[in-house]
Amino acid sequence: MTAAVIDGKALAQEVRSEVKVRALALAEEGITPGLATVLVGEDPASRVYVGAKQKACAEVGIKVWDYPLPSSTPEDELLGLIADLNANEGVHGILVQLPLPEHIDEQKVLVAVDPLKDADGFHPMNLGRLLAGDPLVAPATPAGIQEMLMRSNVEVSGAEVVVVGRSNIVGKPIAAMLLQKAPGANGTVTVCHTGTRDIAQHTVRADILIAAIGRAHAITGPMLKPGSVVIDVGMNRTEDGLKGDVDFDAAMEICSQVTPVPGGVGPMTIAMLLSNTVMLAGG
Ligand code: NAP
Repeated sequence: MTAAVIDGKALAQEVRSEVKVRALALAEEGITPGLATVLVGEDPASRVYVGAKQKACAEVGIKVWDYPLPSSTPEDELLGLIADLNANEGVHGILVQLPLPEHIDEQKVLVAVDPLKDADGFHPMNLGRLLAGDPLVAPATPAGIQEMLMRSNVEVSGAEVVVVGRSNIVGKPIAAMLLQKAPGANGTVTVCHTGTRDIAQHTVRADILIAAIGRAHAITGPMLKPGSVVIDVGMNRTEDGLKGDVDFDAAMEICSQVTPVPGGVGPMTIAMLLSNTVMLAGG
């Protein structure tokens, strides 16, 4: 079997076109959606991510409020900026790029963001609403994964879904989203992590495997179920370039649909951030 590649770039372009239409409709009402991007420090990867998000905002008519801060920024100062952005009527979404420098308490900062301006969906109130099946805004990467599955006509309802990884930004929220009794969800979800005794025993049963591990090719061919769908969230910089968490060549032989790295989940994450921002602006 040769799998079909799920083209994240093309799907993201679809989403971005729809977001642009929503942003234009808001503009006709005199509202320019605004996203504040807060980047603390000089981490090169974070700068690339924030730059890509800002460029994408400009393309769909979202105004960017750019806050690059030195890595020495005191926590109080950052919290002060967040308070100002919460009060700024032109700012509808706030994105604090993670990770933050070690002297800053990440959780304190995420909680300080107004939940109604939480473009990344990381505020505990929004995560709680997500868990309760009444989301206001979903974290962008899991939202992008669900959108990809729906747009690729992958039936989640009734499927065995195995998520490898339990981070607060990917693994836990995507597991919570796909187990809801709702359209695009209703799966039977298993979550694996470093405490899982035999990961392959779970992954080999997965109709839909979502890998969010952060280790190049941690998922090998024998761990995959023939005919399954693989969503590879991993972005691992190796000597051979950017690699996913799944052995892509093996997955192409065994599975029915596979996301590439790069060009899979990454572009969808950006598209859903734009969608979240326009939604928070009322569109
Ligand atoms: P993270 O916070 O480091 O979490 C990784 C998770 O994987 C943890 O739950 C960890 O288990 C689990 N894990 C690590 N090694 C494992 C192993 N050998 N077997 C089973 N589980 C293992 O990472 P993250 O933020 O979720 O990101 C995961 C990957 O996705 C990274 O490569 C990241 O760059 C990428 N990512 C991509 C996007 C995108 O837009 N494409 C967005 C976000 C993240 P424990 O909890 O037990 O430690």
